Amino acid sequence: MNLRNRIVEFLFPPACPLCGTPVSTHGELCADCWTSFNWIDGSKCVRCGYPFAMDMPNGAMCPVCASGKNELDWIRSACVYDDASRMAVLPFKHAGRISYAHFMSRAMIWALRDIDLSDIDIIMPVPLARRRLFHRAYNQATLLARPIARVLGIKIDYDSVYRKYRPDMGHLNARQRMENIHNVFTVNCPDCIRGKRILLVDDVMTSGATFSELSRVLKSAGATAVYGVTFCRVAHTD
Ligand SMILES: [Zn+2]
Ligand SMILES: [Zn+2]
Repeated sequence: MNLRNRIVEFLFPPACPLCGTPVSTHGELCADCWTSFNWIDGSKCVRCGYPFAMDMPNGAMCPVCASGKNELDWIRSACVYDDASRMAVLPFKHAGRISYAHFMSRAMIWALRDIDLSDIDIIMPVPLARRRLFHRAYNQATLLARPIARVLGIKIDYDSVYRKYRPDMGHLNARQRMENIHNVFTVNCPDCIRGKRILLVDDVMTSGATFSELSRVLKSAGATAVYGVTFCRVAHTD
């Protein structure tokens, strides 16, 4: 460790970003916080990563994927959206806790462990509407995409897709979310998309409507494959 790092370490000893307990490395969670998350490490849909409530044979698909209704080629998420992940995601998204990107992106890389990543050409954070970016000052998906792109050695595409502003989807059901997101994305640079295999990055997957719509738009612009990774996803594991 160089002198500068030793001084930083002395002034700011590493602490769990969620609860402040001392830890050995900056940005890492303490053991208690780590175990409070419902990590997706068991049997899951080979295509969308949906966690199964019981052990299933390798290669099994959930009903949505089996019926061909999933637009993406594969999706993986690190954990289930529940009280623990909500306590991380909401401050990360809305209260400037950008330091959470460290452990969240690490968990997302871990979630990709069973995937062959060698064919990805571009990493794309799900775009935020400019009006929303102006109020929030950052796109939380970009903060997660950057460390993932660095580790995988793949370049990020920030601006080939434009997103129109639409009011929040928080209270909508799955069908309304699908209608609300329809036609919000536009490809600015078709040459940047054509023939590319693209990994989308987002913090939360709720109904999957955002991923589906973005994937539809990218594929109609000539993307050959669209994948997705999120920190957490809505799932009913009981
Ligand atoms: Zn902690
Ligand atoms: Zn599935």
